[in-house]
Amino acid sequence: MTSDIIRNFCIIAHIDHGKSTLADRLLEVTGTVEERRMREQYLDQMDLERERGITIKLQPVRMEYVFEGVQYVINLIDTPGHVDFTYEVSRSLAAVEGAILLVDATQGIQAQTLANLYLALDQDLTIIPVVNKIDLPNADAEGVRQEIVQVLGCDPEDVLFISAKTGQGVDAVLDAVIQRVPPPSAPSSEETLTALIFDSVYDEYMGVIAYVRLMTGSAERGDDLFCAATGARCEAEEVGFFRPQKQKGKKLRAGEIGYIATGLKDPSQCRVGDTILLASERKRARALALPGYREVKPMVFAGLYPSDGDEYERLRDAMEKMHLTDSALTFEPDASSVLGFGFRCGFLGLLHMEIVRERLEREYDAGVIVTSPSVEYRVSLASGEDTIVHSPQSFPDPSLIDSVQEPWVSVDIFTQQKYIGPVMDSVRAFRGEYDRTEYLDTDRLLVHVHMPLSSILVDFYDTLKRVTSGYASMSYQLAGYRPADVQRMDILIAEEPVPALAMIVYKDEAYRRARVVVKKLKEIIPRQQFVVKIQAAIGGKIIAAERLSALRKDVTAKLYGGDVTRKRKLLEKQKKGKKKMMRHGKVSIPHEAYLALLKK
Ligand code: GDP
Ligand code: MG
Repeated sequence: MTSDIIRNFCIIAHIDHGKSTLADRLLEVTGTVEERRMREQYLDQMDLERERGITIKLQPVRMEYVFEGVQYVINLIDTPGHVDFTYEVSRSLAAVEGAILLVDATQGIQAQTLANLYLALDQDLTIIPVVNKIDLPNADAEGVRQEIVQVLGCDPEDVLFISAKTGQGVDAVLDAVIQRVPPPSAPSSEETLTALIFDSVYDEYMGVIAYVRLMTGSAERGDDLFCAATGARCEAEEVGFFRPQKQKGKKLRAGEIGYIATGLKDPSQCRVGDTILLASERKRARALALPGYREVKPMVFAGLYPSDGDEYERLRDAMEKMHLTDSALTFEPDASSVLGFGFRCGFLGLLHMEIVRERLEREYDAGVIVTSPSVEYRVSLASGEDTIVHSPQSFPDPSLIDSVQEPWVSVDIFTQQKYIGPVMDSVRAFRGEYDRTEYLDTDRLLVHVHMPLSSILVDFYDTLKRVTSGYASMSYQLAGYRPADVQRMDILIAEEPVPALAMIVYKDEAYRRARVVVKKLKEIIPRQQFVVKIQAAIGGKIIAAERLSALRKDVTAKLYGGDVTRKRKLLEKQKKGKKKMMRHGKVSIPHEAYLALLKK
């Protein structure tokens, strides 16, 4: 087999523009998935993805398709659209030669359309512009085509019209992939193996399974292999392809996308971005290693602790395995006087953080407590030292601080002319600053602003959606540090500070935030058998307080009769429920508390 008959591509789009649905149609047209096994958004294989209706993980799949009498091998990688999972997109793009840029005909180009398009152009990929959802009555296919032409500078005829739902036009998409996307430039399979690891998972039996794109050479079962960066030796215990389930194959060749089961039991030995080589090429490892990926910069940090103090080892194991399938997650050991041993983790955003927590609980059965998330602050101390602070808990006392700097982001907001007033009001309310405006056409515009990253993490996005009736979209990038007038606010429950609930607030908002927070906590914390005081304090001074009145709660009271098993079950259920909460002295604080506190 030569590489001429291989095509590798991704689908990129703003969230909900139909990537996974188009992938479904491609799986059908190519007969990759049997009809009776087909279900919507087939490539969203995680339960969590299906429940939430969003793609979290990249997912490769190999399809076969006959075009003008020639059978082609087409590798598709479906990617997530949400900004928190951009790293999945950029890694996918490095493994392919082309990208379908999918745009919803009722929405037009949106912020993530552009952000992902720029990523693809950075990699010099061939772009196939496609307008989707033309079956909808309010579709404006022609208008969206014009937008695309303007942004891409392509010919109007290059833009395809489809309905991923009905399947209309989908064949033409495959034809375009074959005609327009160049085959991988892999001159000869006699060259030595270089395989880019773009993703990985841990398998109880086979160890680390590396998802690879072979740039040169070939790999088969039994090959002695070597990871260029970590130096780990391993043997290819199995090689194969994604259909989309793993299917054993004989040999992976230059230009192909597939997997190599390495047998490595230590997840840290096989890293995403590393290159797999033949063990015999050890000496040339440096010269052969592929450029890999730039390190991702975490945007938001939070502490993760086992909800059961003695489960630290279990959690560490789970985190390492999790990191294999989510290489944007960063973590390092951390210890807290109250929560014990745990990890300080970096995430790309709050959704990412939430997903990590849920996956740890579901997939690894590791109960965790997440402390309130924070950005990275640069603190100059009065003593002349500089330090970096990632958590409210370790934020120094006001008396020790000289000055603080916080990260800012440049934000691109897509909106319509009529919403520009409310959009700018929200930007100002979240401490942002206007930069400039670009017009896509007379009605649609891209507003560039600068904002503190912490504002984005709070609920700027929800606000933006609200004031534009769901229309606006945005993307953002880190853009340096600026001075910030902030302090640590402590939360006391039953007169004891709860380190995990401490937060960093702007001085001029402190009183207002304090009142909101104690009130919200009062709603969230279940009543106890005794009165609980909830207070907010800055530098030891109480600035807001609420009182949670007592309640006598006896869950078994309503169980009449002597059904002991039922009683025991109920008590056990309650005990489990308790595990999900953080115990603080005699008071349990539910998980939602941490996230709820973020909202303004
Ligand atoms: P993704 O986030 O880009 O992967 O988008 P999905 O494939 O999950 O689709 C988002 C929503 O749009 C789903 O409810 C789909 O059923 C719907 N959808 C996708 N393509 C079409 C289409 O061509 N026509 C219509 N009417 N709905 C579509
Ligand atoms: Mg999807």
